Amino acid sequence: MTSDIHLNKCNRCGRCMSVCPVYQTTFREADVARGRLALLEALEDGVMGWSERLGEILSRCLLCGACAQVCANNVQTTRLFQQGRRDLFLAGKSTRADNPLIKSIRRRDLPGKVVRKGGALFQALFCKKIPESSGLHLRFPLSFFTQRATAPAISWTPFIKSAEPEAASPVDGLRVGFFVGCGANYLFPEAARVLVRILRHMGATVVIPENQVCCGLPAYVSGDTKTAQALAKKNIELFGLLELDAVLTVCASCGSHLRDLPVLFDDDPLWQDAASGLAEKHRDAMAFLVESLDFDTYLKDQSLDRVLQGGPLLRVAYHDPCHLRIGQGITEAPRRILDALPNVELVEAPHAGQCCGHGGDFNLSHFDLSVNILDRRMEDFQKVEPDAIVTGCTGCLLQFVEGVSRKGLAGKVRVCHPLVLADKAMAYCRAT
Ligand code: SF4
Ligand code: SF4
Repeated sequence: MTSDIHLNKCNRCGRCMSVCPVYQTTFREADVARGRLALLEALEDGVMGWSERLGEILSRCLLCGACAQVCANNVQTTRLFQQGRRDLFLAGKSTRADNPLIKSIRRRDLPGKVVRKGGALFQALFCKKIPESSGLHLRFPLSFFTQRATAPAISWTPFIKSAEPEAASPVDGLRVGFFVGCGANYLFPEAARVLVRILRHMGATVVIPENQVCCGLPAYVSGDTKTAQALAKKNIELFGLLELDAVLTVCASCGSHLRDLPVLFDDDPLWQDAASGLAEKHRDAMAFLVESLDFDTYLKDQSLDRVLQGGPLLRVAYHDPCHLRIGQGITEAPRRILDALPNVELVEAPHAGQCCGHGGDFNLSHFDLSVNILDRRMEDFQKVEPDAIVTGCTGCLLQFVEGVSRKGLAGKVRVCHPLVLADKAMAYCRAT
C-alpha cells in the first residue's frame, strides 16, 4: 500500500480547530488535524523520520471524523491519519504493536487491583473464554482495569452462543443477517437480544452466523492492517454465502467499519469487490427498523395512549455516536424510535453531536484525555437531568457507564441502547 498524503489539500485555515474534541481539551496545535497533517507532510518530504513521539501524536486522535466533516477543502483527514498509523506500525515504531501490558497479562504477573476490579471480564479475556481474534483483547488490556471507576460485567455466555435459532421462517418477510460485534456479544448482550426479538416480532427472519469474528476495527485503528484484513475476509466470506436482504449491526463502530471495508483492500480488486458486497448490505439496526419496517409508525399505532395514564414518565437523552452521525449520516432514526415510545420524553442535551471521548482504543491509550472529554459531555447531559442516556454504539455505552459513575449518578441514570427501551415499551404494552 502507498500513502495518499500527496492528496492532502490542507491550507491551514484552522476550521477543524472549532470541532476537534481533543484540541478543545488541550489547545495544542499537534492535537488538531492541521498540525498532524503538517507533521505527516514533513515525514513524506523526508524532513523528519518516524519516531515514538510522532506515534504518540498520531495516537491522540479519536478518528471521530468531525474535522473532515467541516473541512472546506474536503481533506480526508481520518484516512490520512489512519495511513500514518499503518505506516508507523509497519516501521515497527508503534507502541501498540507489542503492548507490554498485554504481555504482562499473558505472563500472568498481575497486580491484585487488576484481579479485584477486572472480575469476570478479566478472567474471560485471559482464560481463553474469549477467542484471540476478538477485538476485546485489544480493547481491554491491563490499563483498562486499573484506570477506570467501572469495569463492565461480562456475559459468561456470549450472545451468539445463547441466541435462539429461528423457529420458522416467514415466507415473504425480509431476511436479515445480524453482525453482532464484540461489544454486543460480550458486554451489552441485551442490545443484541432485543434487536432479534423486535425483528422477529416485525416479521423478519434473522440469521446469526455463529462463526462471525470481530469486525477488525480495533486492529485497524491500531495500524495493524494485516490483522484487520484477515478478520474482514472471514466475515465477508461468511455473510457472502447467505442470501440476505441486509446485514444489521447494533453498534455504530462495527457498522461504520463494515461500510469502510473496501478501503482495506485498495490494492486487491477481488477482495475489494467482495468487501463492497458486505458494505452495501450493511444497515444500522435502528435505521433499518424505521426505514424498512416502519417501526416508529408501528409503535405509535399500538394504542399507547392508555399506557401514558399509568406508567411513569422517563426523561431520555440521546447521544449521537460519531460512527453513526458522521460515519453513517444517521441522526433521525434513533430519535424517531424514542419519540414514538409511550411515557418517554426525549430531551436534547446541549452540543448535540459532541464526541464522548471513547474513540476505539483512544480510551485505553489516553484515558485521562478521554475522560476529560467525557466529563464535558456528561455536563451537557446533566443540564437536562435525564433518567436515561441512550446511544447506539457499544463503545459510547461503555464510556457513559463510566461517565455516570464518575458523576455519582450510577443507579440514578440508566445507560442503554435505544432499542432496549423500545423493547420494554412493547412488553409493557402487551402486558396492559
Ligand atoms: S479545516 Fe481542513 S483545510 Fe482547514 S486546517 Fe483543518 S484540515 Fe486544513
Ligand atoms: S478525527 Fe476527531 S479527534 Fe481526530 S483530529 Fe479530527 S476532529 Fe480531532
